Amino acid sequence: MARIAIIGGGITGLSAALEGAASGHEIVVLEGATQVGGKLRLADVAGHSVDVGAESMLARRPEALELLADLDLAPVHPAPVHASIWSHDELVPMPTGTMLGVPADPAGLRPLLSEAEVARAALEEPVTVAADLSVGDLVEGALGAAVVDRLVEPLLGGVYAGHARRLSAQACAPALFAVAQRGESLTEAARAAARRARGSNAGPVFAGLRGGVGSLPARIVEALEERHVQVRTGAVVRELSRRPQGWQVVVGETRAPETLEVDAVVLAAPARPSARLLQQVAPAASALLSDVDYASMAIVTFAFAAAESAALAGSSGFLVPPVEGRTIKASTFSSSKWPWLADAAPGVVFARVSVGRQGEEADLQRSDEELATDGLADLRAAVGAVPDPIDVHVQRWGGALPQYAVGHPDRVARVRAAVAELPGLAVAGAAYDGVGIPACIGSGRRAAAQVLDHLAGVRPARGTMGA
Ligand SMILES: Cc1cc2nc3c(=O)[nH]c(=O)nc-3n(C[C@H](O)[C@H](O)[C@H](O)COP(=O)(O)OP(=O)(O)OC[C@H]3O[C@@H](n4cnc5c(N)ncnc54)[C@H](O)[C@@H]3O)c2cc1C
Repeated sequence: MARIAIIGGGITGLSAALEGAASGHEIVVLEGATQVGGKLRLADVAGHSVDVGAESMLARRPEALELLADLDLAPVHPAPVHASIWSHDELVPMPTGTMLGVPADPAGLRPLLSEAEVARAALEEPVTVAADLSVGDLVEGALGAAVVDRLVEPLLGGVYAGHARRLSAQACAPALFAVAQRGESLTEAARAAARRARGSNAGPVFAGLRGGVGSLPARIVEALEERHVQVRTGAVVRELSRRPQGWQVVVGETRAPETLEVDAVVLAAPARPSARLLQQVAPAASALLSDVDYASMAIVTFAFAAAESAALAGSSGFLVPPVEGRTIKASTFSSSKWPWLADAAPGVVFARVSVGRQGEEADLQRSDEELATDGLADLRAAVGAVPDPIDVHVQRWGGALPQYAVGHPDRVARVRAAVAELPGLAVAGAAYDGVGIPACIGSGRRAAAQVLDHLAGVRPARGTMGA
């Protein structure tokens, strides 16, 4: 039996631990914070447990649904209510049938875009690309700036808290990038995707969990403990070094460090702490990872008396294009979006707003009270009258979301190539192949599979790590 240390107890590290649990090896998850889960977290708001981090999982990829099935948990799905874009001071229904904002039919962009902007989008100029470029540059070149400013920006802002003209098309819009590599029409690709979606029976796009996605980490820990995996919190890993037969991990306070000797390591921490831990053993990978920028964010959750909150009914919320110059970048009407939450807290309506995009840290340099006041003012400006909240919770997320800058896939490939030189070490997490929960689950599982293969004496084929 070998020993495996998993560094980081976010959804990536916990998924890696689940993957390894049946192997018979001794596995320990080392989480630096006082609780596991990373960006998945619950908090008490008005006496109810609600998500204050991630709250929804893409169901068109298998990983999250497979994880729930492994834990005997049933997914729930959002109510079939529309979302909006807050544009020119009005809430406009989100155009449907777009591929990351690229319309199947430019006419469907009315009234979000002006007639001239729709006409420009309709005159698509197919772009042919040879190398990675930003999503914004790709879409603007083909369809005009307004599609980017009014649609692509808020959509990408919602996922990455980043900017369309900085985020990599190859990493963040791989389907559009592939179309542009072939020099084909983005609109035609969106049309074909919409036709496929109409013809398929793929089921709901998103899934959640009764009790909140933030309840998932505790469920995973229960399952891990039943499967004899040790999960330690407050276990900050400070050093990682190679030993002739494996790895040494130094955990805990500098005054009283604890040394663990292990045979293999899954490094599932964000890019910056991973870069620090790799400094001695993989300096090239460390340098590449330390250059991955992160956006910080805050989520302000409001609880309102249900009787006076009709303005927050019948919609899942709205996104805000940066050109609007508002404080908030999105709002989720949680009680309207998630029927389980409305059932659990019938007298209360929950809505949350998010603040902070890459490079806009100044927006976060306000007290919690100011964030709540400014967030509520934007919410009221968007939807109209909502009462004073009965409770407010502010969750700050420093280093919330890695920014996949242009060239990110190449950077990740170079990190992986450097780490592949070190037997028994694998890296995983939101910094690599997708920030969404299913992508992180997949990344954690693949990393665990790599170290298990190593321990079994199987040499992975070069270039397949994390593919
Ligand atoms: C506000 C917000 C909302 C989001 N909403 C959604 C959503 O609705 N749907 C979705 O799919 N995705 C969402 N995301 C993205 C998604 O939640 C994250 O990308 C994902 O959870 C990251 O998981 P991870 O395990 O890779 O990293 P993390 O969650 O960052 O976990 C890494 C863990 O490593 C620990 N760690 C760091 N350094 C050390 C060390 N030296 N020693 C030990 N432990 C260490 C950290 O404490 C942390 O717990 C959201 C993200 C944020 C911030």
